[in-house]
Amino acid sequence: MREIYLDNNATTMIDPEVFNLMQPFLQQTYGNPNSLHRFGQATHKALNEALNKLYDGLGASELDDIIVTSCATESINWVMKGIYFDEILNKEKNEIITSSVEHPAVLASLNFLEKKLGVKVTYLPVNSEGTCNVEDLKDAISDKTALVNIMWANNETGMIFPIKECASIAHEHNALFHTDATQAVGKIRVNFKEVGVDYASFSAHKFHGPKGVGGLYIRQGLKLTSLLHGGEHMGGRRSGTLNVAGIVGMAEALRLANLMLNYENSHIRKLRDKLEDEILKIDDVSVIGNRDNRVPNTILASIKGVEGEAMLWDLNKNGIAASTGSACASEALESNPIMEAIGAAPDLAHTALRLSLSRFNTEDEIDFAAEQIKKAANRLREISSTYAYSPKEM
Ligand code: PLP
Repeated sequence: MREIYLDNNATTMIDPEVFNLMQPFLQQTYGNPNSLHRFGQATHKALNEALNKLYDGLGASELDDIIVTSCATESINWVMKGIYFDEILNKEKNEIITSSVEHPAVLASLNFLEKKLGVKVTYLPVNSEGTCNVEDLKDAISDKTALVNIMWANNETGMIFPIKECASIAHEHNALFHTDATQAVGKIRVNFKEVGVDYASFSAHKFHGPKGVGGLYIRQGLKLTSLLHGGEHMGGRRSGTLNVAGIVGMAEALRLANLMLNYENSHIRKLRDKLEDEILKIDDVSVIGNRDNRVPNTILASIKGVEGEAMLWDLNKNGIAASTGSACASEALESNPIMEAIGAAPDLAHTALRLSLSRFNTEDEIDFAAEQIKKAANRLREISSTYAYSPKEM
């Protein structure tokens, strides 16, 4: 059976070139980069080269800090909790503003600050495109705002947020700005300096790097209370022996992804658009967000009359790996702004089917996937008497 992977926003295949480059650091060049002997010196050199690639690839100056972490979740938790210690505890400021469609790494961290530590969190609504309006941020922000947090690209819809404008509004009000760039890095051009963010989080496995390694960009001169105390690793900002193979892999993956950006924006976008056009031919299917304002690889399609898990199961059985947003029960709908944004009817089952491509997908795969999705939708609608699907009633 063919196996077609269309779940690259969940994780990606490690690029073979990245894998090859990492291997020596697992068995031959395994010294601790902080050790003074030749084993340590060898890894130290590789580490410095990798860090330089990260600075270049993310548009950071050498005066900024890029701290290697274990994943974007760690980077995000660090910013949210660090801001509490640095900006909220014992200070006048007591508010964090965020978009309401952030990844759970953000929303759960903020929920913790809200419930356990009494921080005021303001959630900006999203518009029908699934992004937030700059005007809503202008209305919400005040001199009590410590941090504005807006993702660069949404993991479900792929929609790109106006982070340059949001960062500038935050700064006008003396608030700090963090962006979760996890779904942007490697898919669109990312230059942290140019967009003026204070902090930015990312994860290597989203751009064909290894799992278990990510990073946090900290703009020049900004403090951030550390979460991991111990040795003097990463300039004392994050302790723990460095994952050299992972860092070498992440840096090379970033270099390759940046080299491939034109390809991403032409070839992958073309395949994505082709798949989207085919899916839109199915009755009662809509796709959230203008495709020109999305990262080039992502589609979030609402397919009415089909239950999400049944759809994934059917596709999986036929060789297609995709993923779904929250199942559409009315309660879930109320609590899921993306579902609201796509205008899903609360009383009817629907699938929010996420298809996310990569540079390893071929046109032939996309044609096959489109066919399978059409067949699955038809098949499931036929058998789904439970949901009483009828196009005329919608
Ligand atoms: N932020 C976004 C937008 C994501 O898509 C993800 C992962 O899906 C994360 C953060 C968390 O990344 P990780 O699981 O690598 O920590």
